[in-house]
Amino acid sequence: MFNNRIRPKTAEEIAKIKESCTIVVKAIAHVAKIIKPGVTGLYLDKEAETVMRDLGAVPAFKGYNGFPASLCISVNAAVVHGIPNATELKEGDVVSIDCGAVINEYFGDSAYTFALAPVGEEIIRLLKTTNESLYKGIAQAKVGNRIGDISYAIQEYTELNNKYGVVRELVGHGIGKRLHEPPDVPNFGKRGNGLRLEENWTIAIEPMINLGKKDVYQAKDHWTILTRDGKPSAHFEHTVAVKQGGGEILSDHTEIENEIKNNGNIMNISENI
Ligand code: MG
Ligand code: MG
Repeated sequence: MFNNRIRPKTAEEIAKIKESCTIVVKAIAHVAKIIKPGVTGLYLDKEAETVMRDLGAVPAFKGYNGFPASLCISVNAAVVHGIPNATELKEGDVVSIDCGAVINEYFGDSAYTFALAPVGEEIIRLLKTTNESLYKGIAQAKVGNRIGDISYAIQEYTELNNKYGVVRELVGHGIGKRLHEPPDVPNFGKRGNGLRLEENWTIAIEPMINLGKKDVYQAKDHWTILTRDGKPSAHFEHTVAVKQGGGEILSDHTEIENEIKNNGNIMNISENI
């Protein structure tokens, strides 16, 4: 198995991944600025693609295994991998925006979930808890820990403490010259299990958390992953570099969260609970 060893990235490689992540965040921040009831996923996708291309990047998802768009837009019972379509978004929708970009041969990947106002406290709590669980996982992405320490931190916070469903079929991943590289980074697992994390591994951590049960299925479009019970789901993602003190976030969401504060059409999960 030593041929399969996961290679730490150099400082130059991490800088390139961070550059891609910065463009991804700008694309999602633009979505945060313009999303409102009445707009369509197709419109948001086109806008995000323009942001990425104007900054010199190529959308990473478009054409990936045949995926037809630049964003994955997953609404309500859709967990991830939703294909942007012509349906108008409406009040109360829970909208996950997942975006990837590549520039200088290195990929960046990040996701954020928006709730179109008004939504109940149940939805705000789901989004807030899922987002917080991402940071619990990132705190465990430190040298000497194991993958299972990240996984357990997310599962403990969401499933054990809050009775949400952690999706089992999809996981986080290594990232670099490919969008998806080893290792897998599940959102469930046991402390002290799995590969030992090495300094400067770059990984995408991405909790996919269901309000109801964990079970999901794939839609007939062969992409969209949906909850079996039809309840909403949330998804937040950061690309991070493993460091001594925990994961260094390469896809800082501050720009997205600043746009949220200025967009009265979406709930501000940092202020509403
Ligand atoms: Mg992603
Ligand atoms: Mg990802």
